[in-house]
Amino acid sequence: MQKAYRFRLYPTEEQMQQMTRIIGCCRFVWNRLLDYSSKSYKRRGESHGSFDFNNFIAHTLKPAFPWLSDAPAQTLQCVSADLSAAFRAFFRGDAEYPKFKKKNRSKKSFRIPQRGKVDTENSRIYVQGVGWVNAVIHRTPIGKLKNITVTVNPSGTVYASCLFEDGKDLPVPALPDKPKVLGVDLNLDRLAVCSDGTDYENPRALKQHERRLKHLQRMLSKKKKGSENWKKQKAEIAGLQEKIASIRKDRINWMTKCIVCKSQADAIAIENLNVSGMMRNDKLSKHIQDASFHEIRRQIEYKCLWYGKTLVIADRFYASSRICSACGWHNDRLTLRDREWECPVCHTKHDRDRNAALNLESFGLKALARDAGEVKPPEKPSVDEHGVCTHLRSKVSVNEERTPGCPGSL
Ligand SMILES: [Zn+2]
Repeated sequence: MQKAYRFRLYPTEEQMQQMTRIIGCCRFVWNRLLDYSSKSYKRRGESHGSFDFNNFIAHTLKPAFPWLSDAPAQTLQCVSADLSAAFRAFFRGDAEYPKFKKKNRSKKSFRIPQRGKVDTENSRIYVQGVGWVNAVIHRTPIGKLKNITVTVNPSGTVYASCLFEDGKDLPVPALPDKPKVLGVDLNLDRLAVCSDGTDYENPRALKQHERRLKHLQRMLSKKKKGSENWKKQKAEIAGLQEKIASIRKDRINWMTKCIVCKSQADAIAIENLNVSGMMRNDKLSKHIQDASFHEIRRQIEYKCLWYGKTLVIADRFYASSRICSACGWHNDRLTLRDREWECPVCHTKHDRDRNAALNLESFGLKALARDAGEVKPPEKPSVDEHGVCTHLRSKVSVNEERTPGCPGSL
């Protein structure tokens, strides 16, 4: 099983310059390879793989641009591997055509596949081509180091994401005859409401800092674009945005771990939310982004995999909020505003979200008992006809650090 750990780096001025040079080399190589590949495809209909790209780097680019040797050769080979992966994704129809990287727009990062070291005792990390860099090693990684990805954020903070292989297999999900299922309803008021009575509050990270962010953005608009003060202001905004992202991510990491691990459930049942559809609603989109439903779903998925839990995903047309969890009566008149309602048949008073979580729990129980009833099959092929997620077992490497600017916490 592979796990990524992310550590904050504190490079010296010289090391920072060297990192910037390596990032520059990578961007240059990416753009040249993309240009070379696009032209030869148009002219001769040839497509290239990473082998051709590596030859092009060694025999054409390096002799013409000797400064490319500032970057370790393996790091440049990673660029060609990434580009050929991007082309494969494009030809499969999973991604757009690869784009050129612009100096100030693209993500600033590079990968080192070998010779990295994490020195826990002296709190430092060896980055090939840069040397030993001071770091905060906040947790001890387990296993063998596979590669290191160094990322320089827009605010100037530097992180190293270290991928470790611990040599263990993923646990096989064990389901007892009467599994304990935890229904989890995701919503905006409270981030998650569980069927066992637990609530997780939304930190509303953006709302908390929205005034300050707006103030900083107003200040930026008054400054001359490209000036030193403008750059400083821009870095300050980026810093605040990173802070917002870390508050959000820290809460989500903690919450998803509680849901998957501490609840001691055998299976987790969640709803297949139509996030992109909801994002089109102008009033909701900002809050949905702030609650990061996508991220919650992703983390629940991989944590289920790590801890051997089964994940059940209810179809997005499954009316979890409208069904009375006590008697099964269908409330067609329920609107988004009704936070509480009473069932006219059995007179149970419902908290909207708790009721949804309870319904998801019974959906999960039914799905696991292979008796999905009249529920429509989910539209994603990765979910079997009973709503049980099947693709998860084939996913092995999970990188938990994708959002920039947050200390790696679980
Ligand atoms: Zn009822």
